[in-house]
Amino acid sequence: MEDSVVLYPSPGIGHLISMVELGKLILKHDPSFSVKILIATPPYNAGSTAPYIKRVSTTTPSITFHHLPTVSLPLDFSISPNQETLTFELIHLNNPNVHQALQTFSQTSNVRALVLDFFCTAALDVATTLHVPSYYFFTSGALALAAFLYFPTIHHNTTKSFKDMDGTHLQFPGLPPIPASDMIKPMLDRTDKAYEGFLNFSTDFPKAKGIIVNSFESLEPRAIKAISDGLCVPDYPTPPVYYIGPLIADDDRTGAGGGGGRPECLAWLDSQPSGSVVFLCFGSLGLFSVEQLKEIAVGLEKSEQRFLWVVRSPPTEDKSKRFLAPPEPDLEALLPDGFLERTRNRGLVVKTWAPQVAVLNHESVGGFVTHCGWNSVLEAICAGVPMVAWPLYAEQRLNRVVLVEEMKLTLSMDESEEGFVSWDVVEKRVRGLMESKEGEMVRERVIAMKDGAEAAMREGGSSRIALTKVLNIWKRGCNY
Ligand code: UDP
Repeated sequence: MEDSVVLYPSPGIGHLISMVELGKLILKHDPSFSVKILIATPPYNAGSTAPYIKRVSTTTPSITFHHLPTVSLPLDFSISPNQETLTFELIHLNNPNVHQALQTFSQTSNVRALVLDFFCTAALDVATTLHVPSYYFFTSGALALAAFLYFPTIHHNTTKSFKDMDGTHLQFPGLPPIPASDMIKPMLDRTDKAYEGFLNFSTDFPKAKGIIVNSFESLEPRAIKAISDGLCVPDYPTPPVYYIGPLIADDDRTGAGGGGGRPECLAWLDSQPSGSVVFLCFGSLGLFSVEQLKEIAVGLEKSEQRFLWVVRSPPTEDKSKRFLAPPEPDLEALLPDGFLERTRNRGLVVKTWAPQVAVLNHESVGGFVTHCGWNSVLEAICAGVPMVAWPLYAEQRLNRVVLVEEMKLTLSMDESEEGFVSWDVVEKRVRGLMESKEGEMVRERVIAMKDGAEAAMREGGSSRIALTKVLNIWKRGCNY
């Protein structure tokens, strides 16, 4: 029977893309390990995953997608306002389907490992019942992993919510002091259902056979050392951690994927001077209010920089639609009067989605205003593009602290307490990134880190060695 590795991503294009990249890496890394990759996709994948899945299925036939059946979710928004609660609930309800799928896969292949997205901890029990060795795939960095691993310790040492610890800095092994208010957003309130979900998965992390992380050693040496020294899980052995990144969706580098021809924004970039354009894009879920969009527009206009800006519709007031993809934005209504016309010669606004990897790798792009989603950070590093950090959700504020203070790869977009950024801050930061000495320093650091990323992925590099280690375990089997 053929060998297989089953990957189980959580909903959301960011998580799916890195899981697929992991699958591709496994396929090409060791020709002597002939394996097929089975991806069990949960229902309710946010964003436009269908075209992406179609493209991967066509270009990489050794990857097969198995769509898990729809489950009905109790949409009770009083439990928690956070999308993560819904994700935990969805994964939990999906367990019988995952059980069924694993049994089916086992009839036609030797399932060597189940690789779970870190949101899919609930499926750990299923793997245990079926005697399948399970591994986590952590799609964020070692810095966030260190925080999650140590989080149960912090939880047990206090009765307060992070949101009520104003002015307190949290001490995580391997991280600079983190302001409590910069903790992962859905974990700020101890009474929130999402907090419980995060606590459960942080506690369950060490139970896996190993943790695979989309990062590389020279990017996060301090956090990586703290984890490997066992400082983050004081009362339990830390499982082996494999830093195998950076994984980037490189088939998208030309932007030609999907069969729809070259996107207009890339053609526009072709006509711009080298390194002159600031790219603004906020992940698969980043949304701004109308007031904030207008403020960004004014800041961009006053900055006199060239820009490429991905704009989405503001969040809906209708709670039942909160987790659905937003409708196409009406740019004329959302942006200040005459903005598009006045900036026509130096700016382009793209609705909803741009091929980010291709954009970042375009020679005309010289800066990136990002929400600090981990994939976006790695993509910018691999393209050698310096960043301004404007975190919006998930672990992005935590990422910003380390990116700004320790790695010095980004400038910070400083927001008000309510999270609002005024036009003059946007102007200053965008201009600073492209023209100031500070911006130049960040650029030099990012370019050096790009070399580090390339070295890690080269034959004999740290990430290649780590991947070999874990694949050898799977190849030998019987790791249960
Ligand atoms: N992305 C993209 N175009 C967009 C927005 C996002 O190609 O307009 C891609 C981006 O390149 C990255 C992923 O979607 O690979 C977003 O992942 P990230 O971890 O940065 O953020 P998340 O969406 O998970 O918050």
